[in-house]
Amino acid sequence: MSGIRPTGFLHLGNYFGAVRNYVRMQESYTCYFMVADLHALTTLTETRELKNHVRRVLAENIASGLDPEKVALYCQSHVPETAELYLLLNMLAYKGELEKTPTFKEKVRLHPNNVNMGLLTYPVLQAADILLQRATLVPVGKDQEQHLEMARNYAGRFNQRYGEVFPEPYAFNFGESLIKVPSLDGAGKMSKSENQMATLYLADDDETIRNKIKKAKTDSGAPGGDMPESVANLFLLLELVCSQDVVDKFRADYQAGTVRYGDMKKELAEGMVAFISPIREKAEQIRNDDSYLRKVMEEGAAKARANAAATLQLAKEAMGLNYFAKI
Ligand code: AMP
Repeated sequence: MSGIRPTGFLHLGNYFGAVRNYVRMQESYTCYFMVADLHALTTLTETRELKNHVRRVLAENIASGLDPEKVALYCQSHVPETAELYLLLNMLAYKGELEKTPTFKEKVRLHPNNVNMGLLTYPVLQAADILLQRATLVPVGKDQEQHLEMARNYAGRFNQRYGEVFPEPYAFNFGESLIKVPSLDGAGKMSKSENQMATLYLADDDETIRNKIKKAKTDSGAPGGDMPESVANLFLLLELVCSQDVVDKFRADYQAGTVRYGDMKKELAEGMVAFISPIREKAEQIRNDDSYLRKVMEEGAAKARANAAATLQLAKEAMGLNYFAKI
């Protein structure tokens, strides 16, 4: 189970941290993937663009290879059971620990005039999404590690207090460790809303991709010393979209102090264009197909709600909220 907030265009971080894993998981797991529109409301005060963003996230997921026939692909707000479990889990969530969450502190810094309770209890809502589907594996990027730990805590507290209902969920990546795709300016990670010139979006046209990569930060190329983060970032991106031969060649050049960043960026740009452009074109078609998107959302919600209702029943019985049961 996993989700992506519809707060903007999907970028390479979303793809490599999350969507790529979704696409692989659909072959061998029962999967629930959603557009986290309720989570988006924790920071969006203006919702006129929400509909377009929701359609875009769905379309870009499908264009990246997600098959709505194989998984439940749905909108968070179409599964009202989420709100009920969220309410129940709030009894197990402590104000002090929520206030200490680094992502909450960061959001307070970014949105000082909108520090609402949704923002504070964001990890509780996320735990509700995951536990509602009784998920064990949650494909996410590195930034979500702590939220997963909190979801495990809530599951553990619930089980201890009321009896075993929820399996423990873990962050998941097919590789060795969770991924963080860095931004092109060497400052932080790619993001939907910040650093837009240093973030590569799945909707970027070929020229935009080439321009952004051309402007990416590097160093003087002199040998010796530790590789600066900005250059390490370029190598990481190169590894994501170019062949191993190309990566090895530039790594050897870098070691020898003969690396030509102009050439390296050209290779990276062409690799990126070849990777992004088919997804962009396919997503564009899907985004304009109203009846298809409606069908995907309705069928996805039906699958997610069936599983959610069964879990909620178990949770309420465990909590003693079953007044008609035989004694
Ligand atoms: P969000 O865009 O915050 O809703 O995140 C959706 C998914 O993308 C989550 O699984 C995140 O962990 C992942 N993600 C977002 N940004 C990055 C990034 N720069 N690198 C890796 N994963 C990311």
